[in-house]
Formats: sequence, C-alpha cells, structure tokens
Amino acid sequence: MSRAALATIHLGALRRNLARVRERVGAAKVMAVVKADGYGHGLERVARALSNADAFGVASLGDGLRLRAAGIGKRIVVLSGPDEAADLSEFRRLQLDAVIHHESQLAWLESDRDPRNLRVWLKMDTGMHRLGFAPDDARAVHARLRALPNVDSDIALMTHFAASDEFDNDLTARQIAAFDAATRDLQGARSLANSAGVLGWPQAKNDWVRVGGLLYGLSVIEGKSGTDLGFEPAMTLSTKLIAVNRVARGERVGYAATFECPQDMTTGVAAIGYGDGYPRSAPSGTPVLVDGKRAALAGRVSMDLVTIDLRNAPDARIGDTVTLWGSHLPIEEIAARAGTISYDLTCGMTKRVLFVEDEG
Ligand SMILES: *Cc1c(COP(=O)(O)O)cnc(C)c1O
Repeated sequence: MSRAALATIHLGALRRNLARVRERVGAAKVMAVVKADGYGHGLERVARALSNADAFGVASLGDGLRLRAAGIGKRIVVLSGPDEAADLSEFRRLQLDAVIHHESQLAWLESDRDPRNLRVWLKMDTGMHRLGFAPDDARAVHARLRALPNVDSDIALMTHFAASDEFDNDLTARQIAAFDAATRDLQGARSLANSAGVLGWPQAKNDWVRVGGLLYGLSVIEGKSGTDLGFEPAMTLSTKLIAVNRVARGERVGYAATFECPQDMTTGVAAIGYGDGYPRSAPSGTPVLVDGKRAALAGRVSMDLVTIDLRNAPDARIGDTVTLWGSHLPIEEIAARAGTISYDLTCGMTKRVLFVEDEG
C-alpha cells in the first residue's frame, strides 16, 4: 500500500448510535443528517448503515441525487431547499422534500405549474438569523403554501437552534417560545432539535429530531466527548510509524524548529499530515496512540508526516499502528487542541485517505 492513512468507519457504531438517539426521543421521528458526505464518513455508506432512520437530511439537491442513485428510497429532506427555480422539477422527479426558508423560493413555487407533488418544510428563523422566515410571517407563508395545488398539504414546520449546546443559554428557550407562538394554530409536524437539542432541551423533541453529530459519536458539548455522552465514535483515523529516530537533547524537530528536545530521546514519524486532513493547527503535545500507548506530537504537522515524542512508548517500532483519533482517543480532545470542533475534523478528510468499513 503506497499510503497508510486509513479512516475506518464502524457501521455497527452508526447503527447503535441511532438506537441510542431513539431511546432518548421516544416517539419522535429521527431525521439522520448526512450532509457534507455524512460528516466525512461517506454519504452512501452512512445512509445504508442507517437504513432504519425515518428520513435523511442533506444540504443540497446533489446529495439527494446521489442517495437516489444509490437506491435509497427513503424520505430525503434537502435542508436549504431549491437554489433556483429550475431545481423544482428535480425535487419532484427525485421525490425530495424541500425546506422553504425564503420569499424567493416561495415565488418560484407560486409560478411553478408542474403537476407532480412536492413535500415542503416551512422554516422559521427564531433567532439564529441564518435561514428562515420571520415568525410574524409564518401564518401568511403557511397559507400561501397551502393554496398551491402541487404542494403537499401536509407541511412540516421547523426551526434551527443557534446555541443548544450551551444548556444554560436561554436563547434556546426563547427560540422554542418564539416557534411555539408563531406556529400555535398551524397544522403540521414540528421539528426543532439537533443533536445538542436532543441532549439538553427535552421540551424540543416533537415531532421530528434532526440529528447528525450523535450518530457519528461526535459531541459539540464543550468539555464532553461523544463517549462521555454514551455514544461510540464511528470513525477511527490511523496510520503507520515509518521511522524511529534518536535525537539529541537541545536539537529541534520539524518545520520552524518549534519543538526542542528536553533530553536525548526517541522520536517517531507517522505517515499522515494536513494533506490527509489531519489538522495543521494541532500543536506539540497533541495526543496520539502508538500501538495503543499514548504519546504526543512533537513539532509542526507537515503535509505528509507528523513527528511523535516516543518517550512514553519506548518499544515503538517501524510499522506500528498510530491512531490519531478513535474509541480510545476522543476526537474532541484533538479538536480542542487544534482550536476547532470534531465535526470540522471528520469533514476534512481528503481524497488521499483510504476509507474502509468495519461491521463492528
Ligand atoms: C446540520 C443540521 C442539523 C444536525 O445538527 P447536529 O448538531 O449535527 O445534530 C440539524 N438541522 C439542520 C438544519 C442542520 O443544518
């Protein structure tokens, strides 16, 4: 094998994480969010593993097309809806649900004479100020959608939380109240909660939850890993040690010579770098596992390689497995060191990484 960087996707973990979400949400339906290529785990692969979900949520029409081409017949919701009027015929042909969040989309629908049925979700902006209609407009927009003969009269109602990962931030409570007030006498299923909403805001569970991160075993709760929350990581990122070296005290390691050896010591070099999607911002001290033992990066991450301080792994040998994240090394720990979130890391795997599936 020319490159050793390997992302192992644990299909069993995906399935068990879905079951764990279901335990928490009772009768609510679960939309498995698989945008950004299934948070970097592989769109079709994740959709097949999560065939038990009630629907899939994707970011774009293109992802809906990919899922249909893969033979996925389940309900698929395109979370930002059509980008232009011409998209509508594709939505109808592929039977994709369209989130309608903007007046421009409503205008395209109102001039669309295509007789094929289209299912829509009406999105309200209750405080995130990204996508959605103002709550004051909800009734009027709902009525305009109901008046369209080629739009399914069963219109779902949704909003998205801006800060549900902060369990003491009352913005979420205010968003829930604004949504309830705006939709009080409108018919249709309700959908508010994302992963953090499922964990922290039980009053927001009806009727659909839209869950991404938890299915992949990823956490966005500050200071907590997916494992801490009772979920299993669905990705292990690993590679091999390709060199073991002795470096003298006072010598410096890597680009810009940022790591100075505090003593005569052994270092290792592993075949992975930012060219594979491992974050260049991960500093010296970021943990890795060498043959299961915790060690730490020494010096800068380069494009193809990282250097490892092997003082804690004196038996390390060329060919040993180096784990960058996975079940014994929470990705959240790496993300915190690199100044980002776990989602950003799994989404960032490049084409050079070899993906393999594991049923476990
Ligand atoms: C991404 C997304 C979700 C899922 O968020 P998680 O934090 O991964 O659970 C839910 N709803 C919308 C609209 C999204 O864009």
